[in-house]
Amino acid sequence: MIVVLKKNAEQQQVEVFNAWLHSMGLETHTSVGENHTIVGLVGDTSRVDIESIMALDIVETVRRIQEPYKNANRKFHEEDTVITLPTGDKIGGGHFLVMAGPCSVENEEQIISVARSVKAAGAQVLRGGAFKPRTSPYAFQGLHEEGIRLLLKAREATGLPIVTEIMDAQHLPLFEDIDIIQVGARNMQNFELLKQLGKLRKPVLLKRGMANTLQELLMSAEYIMAGGNEQVILCERGIRTFETATRNTMDLSVIPVLHQLSHLPVVVDPSHATGRYQLVSPMALASTAAGADGLIIEVHNDPEHALCDGPQSLRPEKFADMMEKIRAIRPYADRSFTTGQLALD
Ligand code: PEP
Ligand code: MN
Repeated sequence: MIVVLKKNAEQQQVEVFNAWLHSMGLETHTSVGENHTIVGLVGDTSRVDIESIMALDIVETVRRIQEPYKNANRKFHEEDTVITLPTGDKIGGGHFLVMAGPCSVENEEQIISVARSVKAAGAQVLRGGAFKPRTSPYAFQGLHEEGIRLLLKAREATGLPIVTEIMDAQHLPLFEDIDIIQVGARNMQNFELLKQLGKLRKPVLLKRGMANTLQELLMSAEYIMAGGNEQVILCERGIRTFETATRNTMDLSVIPVLHQLSHLPVVVDPSHATGRYQLVSPMALASTAAGADGLIIEVHNDPEHALCDGPQSLRPEKFADMMEKIRAIRPYADRSFTTGQLALD
């Protein structure tokens, strides 16, 4: 349920109103927008009498929310969420963020060299997996702690913040200095992990599971947000379909749909979505035009010898070419389907 307050509602009246709702065992989430203040009610609202809320002086209107996701819902929070990184770089609300780097951290020279190239091309965040979810237990599993250490070294060398995947909540202490924690497609519904991430106050990049609906993705975001961590970035990375020409099927229309349903930033990963480096730039451009708030791209200095996902990794020169095109397309990004405004930066 959401309660839209009148524009001239006084702070003290709002506080009394919130306290009354809390006394009924409800949690409230207040979002102050340009035109309205919205109080979202989370909990069992079945016993709340709409009429008595409507009768209050400060209340303009009351609406029940049908969707099971509340905190992630655009109806709870009209304006786009903007997430700011320690460097000052932002994502959401018209701010576009590009994360790039190898699938896996392999050694110091590789990660620092790729970090330097993607930074020079305009990426604001370095990606690199230290814990890798591989289909085969015999495949390279990542460098684990050593991988995290090398990522932090690459950050020291370039100033780029780091995004890297967590697979087990027990590893959380290792992620203390990581800037954005990635939850991979395979863990999108690892609810105990999501709950632990909800206790943090740092951005989480939440990838859509390969067979999950958007509602399920938003419910997973809700798990993190219900714990108080509101910094969730949604990521489309392709889904499983009957098509075999690409590694996954990139579901492009989710960008405007998610923007309509939610205020959270949406990024696209065309590398995992297609599985082929030749398709990465066209799909990245399409995502940008469709209003994505950012991209996550696999880049490798020697894709033929990459320990993981070489066939979908761009060489640094190709990544730089793509970035130029992205910059050219950004002013034409279409966000007209959403209530959020696109303020170009
Ligand atoms: C990755 O980003 O390297 C990865 C494993 O992604 P996904 O979870 O989307 O497969
Ligand atoms: Mn990968």
